Formats: sequence, C-alpha cells, structure tokens
Amino acid sequence: MEKGVGAEILTIGTELLLGQTIDTNSAYIGEQLAAAGIEVCWKSTIGDHEARIRTALRTALTRSEIVITTGGLGPTEDDLTCRAIAAELSRPLILDQTVLESIRRRFTERALVMSGNNERQAMIPEAATVLPNPHGTAPGFAIRLEDGRIVAAMPGVPSEMRPMLNEQVIPRLREAFGVKSRIRSRTLKACGITESALDETISDLTRLSRNPTIAVLAYPGEIHIRLTVKAESETEGDQLLDDLETKIRNRVGEYLFGRDEERLEEVVGRLLLDARATVAIAESCTGGLVCHRLTNLPGSSAFFMRGEIVYSNDAKERLLGVPHELIAEHGAVSRPVAVAMAVGMRQIAGTDLALGITGIAGPGGGTATKPVGLTYIALASDDGATSREYRFLGDRETNKLLASQEALDVLRRHLRSHRYAGQS
Ligand code: ATP
Repeated sequence: MEKGVGAEILTIGTELLLGQTIDTNSAYIGEQLAAAGIEVCWKSTIGDHEARIRTALRTALTRSEIVITTGGLGPTEDDLTCRAIAAELSRPLILDQTVLESIRRRFTERALVMSGNNERQAMIPEAATVLPNPHGTAPGFAIRLEDGRIVAAMPGVPSEMRPMLNEQVIPRLREAFGVKSRIRSRTLKACGITESALDETISDLTRLSRNPTIAVLAYPGEIHIRLTVKAESETEGDQLLDDLETKIRNRVGEYLFGRDEERLEEVVGRLLLDARATVAIAESCTGGLVCHRLTNLPGSSAFFMRGEIVYSNDAKERLLGVPHELIAEHGAVSRPVAVAMAVGMRQIAGTDLALGITGIAGPGGGTATKPVGLTYIALASDDGATSREYRFLGDRETNKLLASQEALDVLRRHLRSHRYAGQS
C-alpha cells in the first residue's frame, strides 16, 4: 500500500470571502486530486491580503506535503499570491524572460498594448518551475522545497486553472510522490425506496467494504450509492467495482435504475423504445413536469404521444371523460380519479400506456384526511389499471418533483416486468 500524500488547497481572493464568487476551484481540485490518488486533507480561503496569505501558507506547510493555491496571480495591485509565496519561502522574485516574451506575444497577437502591470506577471520566485498558461496571461508556478514538499500556484480563473491542474500539476505531483494508484468511482442510482431502508439492506457491505468504499447519498426522489475504489489499473478498479455492484444488485436490484450520469427519464425512454411501446400522460398536480422530462429526451416522439394538463375538475371531466359523480364522491385527489384519468388518457391517445397523476402539491389545500403531499398515480395498460398512493413531505416544488419521479418509476417498473411486441 502506498503511503498517503496529503494536499492542502488555498483559494485566494476577497471576492470568495464576500460570497460574490463561489469557490468552485477547490471542489474541482479536490475531485481531480482524489481521482489521481492524492488525498486533500485541508482547504482554506484567504482574502487578498499578503500577511494572511503568508500565514495560511506557513500553516499549510506544517501539515501537508502539497500546497496548491489558486487566484491572485493577475497583474493588479490586489494580486498578491506570488509575492506572498516568494516572501514566505524566502525566494526573491526574478523576471522570467520566457514568460515575459509569451505575455508580450499574447498582447501583440491581440493587437493590445501591454501595460507595465503585465510585466509583473513575469516575476516568478527563484528556482520555481513555470507552468505556462495558454488560456490567459498569468502563468502558474511550482516550487519543490528541499524536504520534497511542493507548492503549486495557479490562476483563479477556472478555465485557466483546470487545464493547468490536469495537464501540468497533477502529473508532476504523481511523479514526485510516486503515486501509482488512481481512484475511480461509480454511482448506482435507486428510487422507490427510502434512504434508511436502503442503508439497512446494505449496511454490512457499507461497514465492511474498505476498497471499494460505499457512501449512500439522498437526493429528492432518488438515492445514490457511490462506490469508490483505489487501484493501480483501470481493469483492477473496474473488477473490484463490478464485484461489489453485483453484491448490491443482489440485495436492492429492483430499485436500481441507472448508473453515474444516467437520469430516470432516460432509462424510461430507453425501455419504451426497446419495447416499442407508446405512452401518454395526464397530469394534474405535476403541471406537465412528467411530459417535460420525457420530452427533454431527443427522439422522444418515438414513444411520447400526448399529454394533458387537467388541473381543474372540469378539464378532467371534459378532456379525459372522468365521470362527474366520481369526482363528487371521492374528490379530485383520489385513487378512483387517478385511475379514471389514466384510463381516459389511454383511450383518447390510443397508446399502449397512460399515466394519471393527481395530488395536493401544497402548501394550501390539505385537510386532515387528505394532507398536503397526498398523491395518487395510476397506470393504464392492456392489463387494466394499477394505482398507488404516496405521501410526500416536501414543499410545493419538491412534491411536484417527487411525484414526477415516482410516475416515471411506475413506468420503469411496468416496462421491466412486462413483455411488449417490440421485445425479442
Ligand atoms: P488572472 O490574472 O488570469 O485573472 P488571477 O490568478 O489573478 O488570474 P483572480 O484575479 O484571483 O485570478 O480571479 C480571477 C477570476 O477567477 C475571479 O474574478 C473569479 O471569477 C474567478 N475565481 C477566482 N478564484 C476562484 C475560485 N476559487 N473559484 C471559482 N472562481 C474563481
């Protein structure tokens, strides 16, 4: 096992402290370093203040092998990172002719006049390695200290920092510290199960599996199971991830709908395409969200035929043929009405499948027997109609999202367990 290397990130810029710019750099650096097998142990944000930058650097060097800074390398008076690092490491700033030339060239190419300020950007701490910046004027630099630790400074602009990190800084760090392994992760996505139920079903795996590790993360309407593995080769990492994924699938497979970036609607769209089945959606409380999500998919016209937003009782009756008496007897938010919506929708659209969704999104409109969040989703198919009651506990927008998620999951589960003409 390799000895761990600890890195520390210092993001520099008063705008970050004031909340005017969100510090996305440290999140990106953390993610990339982790993937490269380098652990980030600390991060701090410091304003444009030389003494504070020096203090932060001094502290970082007492506890980390690698210190990475972003920001404050520009040409203006408040860009102090270079000066602070040079002073703290007792290295004079030296004019780097190559850097000066490349800054000059950049200005000439753009027919701009270079100001004296820009020359400051060619002042680099003695014995530092310059990290060229093809996307901007401020170059970065890296300094290897006598005891082997490395300080790397990069510009703050994310589009300049990112390629510099990936193409220049990380390869240097891996080489300098002999890091061989890489970290890979895979996310399994589940829905239709609560976080605690899922957690309980796989808790022994979560506790015992050290490589890969398992993290369960809850998002509105779906749970992500993130597997993270450290391995020297891609094949070895994939094998370890596959083995653990199989174990998890054996326990909670029916709830898993996708992996990594895959979205639930994509999975449903693919299942509909594979089955050559068509669908229509009648929505009340979701206000068209399910139709929106399905029609966001390129090529959705192959399976999505029609949608109706039937918000009022009148619309439910007139457009979908929901009987007036049914609404009068059970209320618009009821199981029989959801079923009648789905059946009516399927009939007028002539599709293989149709959904009916009715509920109380809130915040008003709830009663003791029909609280906010109560939702019914019905599916009509050749087999007749099925329906389910849900009780969502979010605010209005979350309840709409949760209902749309469950509605898509109803389609997913149906398509997984039924055979259609198009399926071989
Ligand atoms: P340059 O000379 O190319 O501007 P610089 O190192 O001087 O580079 P800064 O002046 O500190 O960079 O920041 C430039 C811009 O980059 C900021 O206005 C901000 O939009 C963005 N930025 C800086 N730091 C961060 C950060 N940590 N996360 C996200 N964006 C950042």
